[in-house]
Amino acid sequence: MKRSPAPVVLKFGGASLEDVQRVARDVRSVRSEGAPVVVVASAREGVTDLLSRALARPRSRSLHREILARVRDRHPDLPLAGRRHLERLARLLTLVERTPGRDAPLGDRVLSQGERLAVHWLSARLADDGMPATPVEADHLGLITDNAYGSSYLLLDRSGPAVRRGLGRILATGRLPVVTGYFGRSLEGRVATLGRGGSDYAAAGIGALLGASRVELVKRHVAVLSADPREVPDARPIPELSYEEAEELAQFGARVLHPLTIEPARAQGITLRVRSLDDPTVVTTISPPRADRRNRALTILRPLRLLRLRVPGGRQRPGIVAEVSERLAAVPVNLVQLYTSSALLCLALEPGQVVAAIRALAPVTRDAAAMLDGPYRVAIVTAIGDGVLDDLGRVPPDVLRGAEGFSATPRALSLAVPLARGSRVLRELHAALVAPEAT
Ligand code: ASP
Ligand code: MG
Repeated sequence: MKRSPAPVVLKFGGASLEDVQRVARDVRSVRSEGAPVVVVASAREGVTDLLSRALARPRSRSLHREILARVRDRHPDLPLAGRRHLERLARLLTLVERTPGRDAPLGDRVLSQGERLAVHWLSARLADDGMPATPVEADHLGLITDNAYGSSYLLLDRSGPAVRRGLGRILATGRLPVVTGYFGRSLEGRVATLGRGGSDYAAAGIGALLGASRVELVKRHVAVLSADPREVPDARPIPELSYEEAEELAQFGARVLHPLTIEPARAQGITLRVRSLDDPTVVTTISPPRADRRNRALTILRPLRLLRLRVPGGRQRPGIVAEVSERLAAVPVNLVQLYTSSALLCLALEPGQVVAAIRALAPVTRDAAAMLDGPYRVAIVTAIGDGVLDDLGRVPPDVLRGAEGFSATPRALSLAVPLARGSRVLRELHAALVAPEAT
């Protein structure tokens, strides 16, 4: 029996869907390689933002009407099944208006309509172009998540059989499945979104389940660069990254990738390619590490606030780090970064969470006679790349002036500096760590 080649997953971001002709050409060209292709689509540009705005003003019927009209305009020439989703969105928004309090699963149902509309709309456009496309909604398909509405986690083991069967059936007829990104079905059987930008993660998950030869994340004109070009004019594209480097990059705030995207790909050894629809030369390949590779990328997170907790006799108090992080997690306060020595804990936090953090730490300061000071206004600049610790000698001494914290692993070197110096430190580190490699 002839085994069919491993499929290719193509994920199109909202902005890339603006140029639907080019999307069609792109899909056609990958299909012509002969492997089965599965498309994953996110909502059309701006739609998820509109739906989030509607949820932020749950009682405002007039705003909901306006948003509904705008979402409708974003999806012209919808086939019947798609028009039904517009009606459903109208009903869901009415439900939101009548529901007291915040209802996270209901919010996720509203948000998921963006992707549902997108796959019906896109499938119709691809069909106009002569490609037999079948819209697929991931919750119905059986892409299972945990119950953490708004930022749920894919449960791939549980999703495997249904997803393979469902997509396999469509592919067997020679059709092109066009699957919603961004959400799945929770263990309780409700719609659960994966967090903003979650379509990348969904695509990686589906690719892992299908044993895809590669997953391509197609963006309009986004490239993975060595730094944000608005901050660092000589930032340059990064052609290759290891899974671990890409993960650090996503975690440290480079907004190109959803932070969980890498995990399913790494688990199955599937190559990810982040590429630009507009410019085929702009591609970043994410795959296992290679010894001969030296990538460096810089990110900056800001504005942040830093609290310093001084614990007298720090070493004599085992468990203090655990206690601090548990108390913060219980609120929850997101601990962006932690710099420690034996008696000093420096906690980097979102500005809006400082008050809650101080309150949560009150028992620690009381019981451990610890002293809390700050908040200090900081930015965290991080250099990422396998073996980056070898570069320590290149860090210009001036960069460290006034630094509030420093931490390093073989793959990420992070520095909390006074907020006002953030941009400068970013540029200087880029010049020291990235620029010398120029060819
Ligand atoms: N549409 C969702 C968002 O804008 C998911 C995605 O685009 O990946 O966050
Ligand atoms: Mg989107």
